[in-house]
Amino acid sequence: MPQEVLTQAAADMLDWPDAYGKRCGMGVMEMSHRGKEFLSIYTQAEADLRELLAVPANYRILFMQGGGLAENAIVPMNLSALKKDATGRGAADFVVTGSWSEKSFVEAEKFCQTRLAASGKADGFISIPDAASWQLNTDASYLHLCTNETINGVEFHSLPDLKALGSRAELVIDFSSHIASRPVDWSRVGLGFGGAQKNLGPAGLTLVVVREDLLGHALDICPSAFNYQTVAKNESMYNTPPTYAIYMAGLTFQWLKRQGGIAAMEAANATKAELLYRTIDASSLYFNKVHKDCRSRMNVPFFLRDESHNEAFLSGAKEAGLLQLKGHKSVGGMRASIYNAMPLAGVQALCAYLQEFERTHG
Ligand code: PMP
Repeated sequence: MPQEVLTQAAADMLDWPDAYGKRCGMGVMEMSHRGKEFLSIYTQAEADLRELLAVPANYRILFMQGGGLAENAIVPMNLSALKKDATGRGAADFVVTGSWSEKSFVEAEKFCQTRLAASGKADGFISIPDAASWQLNTDASYLHLCTNETINGVEFHSLPDLKALGSRAELVIDFSSHIASRPVDWSRVGLGFGGAQKNLGPAGLTLVVVREDLLGHALDICPSAFNYQTVAKNESMYNTPPTYAIYMAGLTFQWLKRQGGIAAMEAANATKAELLYRTIDASSLYFNKVHKDCRSRMNVPFFLRDESHNEAFLSGAKEAGLLQLKGHKSVGGMRASIYNAMPLAGVQALCAYLQEFERTHG
């Protein structure tokens, strides 16, 4: 979370001021989600996000709950029946480039026919299989990608053009861990989803951006609260939305606008990531395995060549104020997550620490 956002939320926690600075006598958590105060917060957040991400008018923005993992079920329940395959069951293709898309692939099997169009698993998820080699299913309703694999540090730097690849499927992207870090080419996307808790706000809010014509195809078993058409018709208020998380995300959207919007974030993220990868690549103590053309700008996993130094590395980092560097338990090593709110100075401090630790342990 950007520091400015937390400071503002703290100042306004007990008594929220409207856009003119007039205090309303209650905090956001105490407001009815249907009252004019919260509706103004909601409307502004939606408009700011649409502007920031340049979401076209024929796409709906849904504020939901359940996180990225719930969407692994909600997406196939809503989209798999866009087309039916020969068995009468909807089908979906998956390109698996890391742990999160692998989870999506396994979950969708409960709701539709799934097919692995390509996988980077054989080489340990360090590259994106060339799109020309993807085995695309002509019956697929959609093709799923995770455009930034948070654990493996693999990111799509551009989205595939499915039509050019001969597929009629809609592109579904899990953008949980890099949304708002770079622009999205909506002309290639049918639906994008993600938990808010990386770049947009606190946990508890799930963002879905979906092209309008994809609404209304949900399976009968789809719970009403997870039916995108029902959620869209009710302006994300079919059930009580996560009001405080939406408010915090709204403050973050305003912060993003003050930073110069998504183009400015992209430039800043590129600078931060380049500095960190350059430091790792130049060292003989650390290494990153991911191919250069798909290295994540948000999540940078790296390893110490001599893993016996791992504990010393982490405790020294903590002393230097560099927290949460331990890698995900499934891959080990280290991971630096350098989301939008991480300033360049934070990455510079990490690089200085990496070099200092190498001098003493290299
Ligand atoms: N997809 C990606 C890319 C993620 O990074 C995460 C969480 N780290 C998830 C899905 C799961 O999200 P949640 O925990 O919000 O369900």
